[in-house]
Order: sequence, then structure tokens, then C-alpha cells
Amino acid sequence: IGRHPVPQQGKILPPGVKKIISVGSGKGGVGKSTVAANLAVALARAGKKVGLLDADIYGPSQPRMMGIAGGPQSGPDNRLLPPEAFGVKVMSIGLMLKEDQAVVWRGPMLMGALQQFLTDVDWGELDVLIVDLPPGTGDVLLTLGQKSELAGAIMVSTPQDVALIDARKGIDMLNRLEVPVIGLIENMSVYHCPKCGHEEHVFGHGGVAAEAEKIGAPLLAQLPIDLETRLGGDEGRPVAAGDGVMAEAYATLAGRLID
Ligand code: ADP
Repeated sequence: IGRHPVPQQGKILPPGVKKIISVGSGKGGVGKSTVAANLAVALARAGKKVGLLDADIYGPSQPRMMGIAGGPQSGPDNRLLPPEAFGVKVMSIGLMLKEDQAVVWRGPMLMGALQQFLTDVDWGELDVLIVDLPPGTGDVLLTLGQKSELAGAIMVSTPQDVALIDARKGIDMLNRLEVPVIGLIENMSVYHCPKCGHEEHVFGHGGVAAEAEKIGAPLLAQLPIDLETRLGGDEGRPVAAGDGVMAEAYATLAGRLID
């Protein structure tokens, strides 16, 4: 963060946005949106100007995780003004829908929406725009990789085999799109029993570190299974905005991304 990328021809970098970083996963439910939200908050706490774009159009979770209710406002030039929470500007299709309302769009409309989120939203000056991708190696990553100036990608995985296999496919896709892999994050790495201190590797152990070494990308963080993280996500208070050990862990992660 901080270095200006050289724009390639035909690629979109929203005006004022210095860098786009995607947060993806091969599989759903591994905590990708949780990590994206908390990383965005931690970067903002570290003094960066941060935006968070929820590109998970069929399953947008950022409005809830960031505690945002109500839709975006229109700016003077008819561009959408993203609401701000915890120092982060947030845009999500979920801000325009009721929580139980489904998006019934075909692929091309979806891609149109994604492109509009990049071009028709007044992001202002941003050091980094974090994009929370839908799980898997689908259309959204392809569109983002081909059409936008994607500086790099972070992959989130649990240590579980199925999640890792899917993450590997995601990394293969990033390589084909020539998007640099910034690093891997192992989420739900371990569970520390708060009563007896016992450590349980619920989803296995060591897989993400081994994968990171294999592909020569850094293992950026190993984040435990943590009740506060889950509660904070459900209640719209990301743990990274608090003052506990998880806020420290996310601050460390943010520090690793700031150059
Ligand atoms: P994804 O974006 O990969 O589908 P989410 O971020 O929506 O996953 O997380 C799925 C569920 O797991 C959410 O309820 C979230 O609060 C919870 N969760 C994510 N990371 C953790 C963690 N480290 N510890 C405990 N719960 C977590």
C-alpha cells in the first residue's frame, strides 16, 4: 500500500484509488468476509484511507458485519457516496436490498453491477480498496482481474483439506490472470479452550503454511477460532475495532501489508 501502480491499458482504477486488493477463498464459509472486514478496519486504524467493496453479490455480508443499515446516498454528480463505518467506506449490493431479499440476476448483470461499483461510486481518495470476492474461481474474479487494476490478492483458507484444494484452484486462477498473490491467511487455525487452555486444531494443522511455502507466498496470519470474532461479525462490531488480542492480530496483519 502506498506505491502507485502503473495503470495498464483498458483497466479500471477508480479515480482517487491507489490500489485494489482482493480477498478471496476457494470455498465458502472459511471466514473470507470476516477477514476482509477486519483487515479493512485494521488498515484504517493504522491511518490508511480504506474502502471495502463487497463483490459477493449473491451473498453480501458486509452491511451486517460492518453494522451499516440504510442505503448509500447520491452525490452531487449522481455518483453513489459509500457509507462509512469504523473509518472504512463500504459499498455492497446488500445496502440496496432488504436482508432477506435475493438477487435474481444473470451473470452479465452481475458483472455490470461490479463494474459500476468501481466506476459509479465516489470512493474519494483511497490508499486501498479491499474487495471481498465471492467464494470460488468464478466470473467476479475474472472480471476484476481482467478489467480492474488489481494490485494483488489475498487468499483465505482454513487448514481443512477441501478448503485448501479449492484455495489452490483460486491461486491457479490468479496466476493465469497474472494477479500477484500477496499471501495466504489461515483462518480458524486453532481453538484455545478458554476454560482449560487446551489447544484443538479443529480443522487440521499445518496445511496452509505448507501451501504458502510451496507457492512461495507469505503466510500472512494464522487466526484462531474465536467467539468474539463470530459475535462481532453478527453484531456489526468487527473485532479489529476493539482492543482485544484479535484487534492486535489484525493490527499485525495490517502492518505486514503496509510498505
Ligand atoms: P466466508 O466469507 O468465507 O463465507 P464468513 O466471513 O461469512 O465466511 O464467515 C462464516 C462464519 O464464520 C461467520 O459466522 C463468521 O462470524 C464466522 N467466523 C469467521 N472467522 C471466524 C473465526 N476466526 N472464529 C470464529 N468464527 C469465525
